[in-house]
Amino acid sequence: MKSLARLLSLPGIICRQPDNSGNYTTIGIGGNVGMSLQAITPSSLIAALQIIRREKVAHVVIGGGSNTVFPEAAPELVLVINRTRGIRRIARDRIAVQSGESTLNVVAWCANNGVKGLEFLAGIPGTIGGAVAVNAGAFGRDLSACFIQAQRLNGRGKVTPIQPAECNFQYRDSLLKRGDSVLLEIILAVEPDDPKVVRQRIRRNFSYRRQNHPGWNARTAGCFFKNPGRDKAGSAGRLIDTAGLRGWRRSGLEVSQQHANFIFNHGNAQMTDLQAFIQHITSVVMQKHGVRLEREVVFVTPDGKRY
Ligand SMILES: Cc1cc2nc3c(=O)[nH]c(=O)nc-3n(C[C@H](O)[C@H](O)[C@H](O)COP(=O)(O)OP(=O)(O)OC[C@H]3O[C@@H](n4cnc5c(N)ncnc54)[C@H](O)[C@@H]3O)c2cc1C
Repeated sequence: MKSLARLLSLPGIICRQPDNSGNYTTIGIGGNVGMSLQAITPSSLIAALQIIRREKVAHVVIGGGSNTVFPEAAPELVLVINRTRGIRRIARDRIAVQSGESTLNVVAWCANNGVKGLEFLAGIPGTIGGAVAVNAGAFGRDLSACFIQAQRLNGRGKVTPIQPAECNFQYRDSLLKRGDSVLLEIILAVEPDDPKVVRQRIRRNFSYRRQNHPGWNARTAGCFFKNPGRDKAGSAGRLIDTAGLRGWRRSGLEVSQQHANFIFNHGNAQMTDLQAFIQHITSVVMQKHGVRLEREVVFVTPDGKRY
């Protein structure tokens, strides 16, 4: 960490050394990291990553940490938290959003400015950069449907544009989720609409989630597993439920009573507890239904690899 002393004096960076990664995740799972850096401006984010990458230091970039889990101890890891903000309209049908902007602010901005197309993000926590990386979605729509292009910092420390074809968007997945590129400003497709109507749709989506999804106040990472294909007997939540695991508890973790694809961390669970917990779920679902559940949530290794 000594080679990173320059980071401490960079403008637009809040640095903590050491820090606790769990504090930056919604599920609250993660332990000690060597350093955390909150980057407030795009230039500070770029400058910090260029130093970190030049020095070949293990690092990981997150936004809202609402789809990520960290290991118990990662003393050599630098956690970079993207807090860059800003939304602007660049054409009748395009907006440019800084990747660290919260999805909540993007949705509110769309309502205030009368643009439609992103209402499905209402109630999905995190940042727009994280949402593009994991191809977040709801109500039958996902980010790949509106992503036009972005600026990204590539693995060699250069800022270059990235196009949809390079992202290989899949259901809740893309090459960005585990790759070297860090998204900076993102351009999204929208359409003009009456602000009242946009606001109505956003309210409807929020209220659907409030009624049907748990987790508004709980420590969770949202849906833990991807929904298997339609031919495989329904959603992950339904498979877990009908395997008899709704409400199942161990090590301070719980399968939600309301929606069995949500896992809550009620205590001080660590990643190893969570791994054992989901191992049990996946093997029971495999035994009962013959379906292999695939994790949606990103796990980080002590040396910054994401899997
Ligand atoms: C209560 C609750 C409800 C949820 N509901 C939904 C839902 O309906 N649909 C859905 O899809 N998800 C849902 N989620 C999961 C999560 O909110 C989304 O996946 C969200 O878009 C992740 O954004 P984030 O900024 O928190 O990502 P993070 O967890 O910070 O990061 C996720 C991944 O993206 C990478 N990443 C982050 N920022 C960047 C960047 N700038 N450039 C490149 N890579 C980056 C990270 O390295 C990591 O691999 C829910 C979560 C919760 C807690």
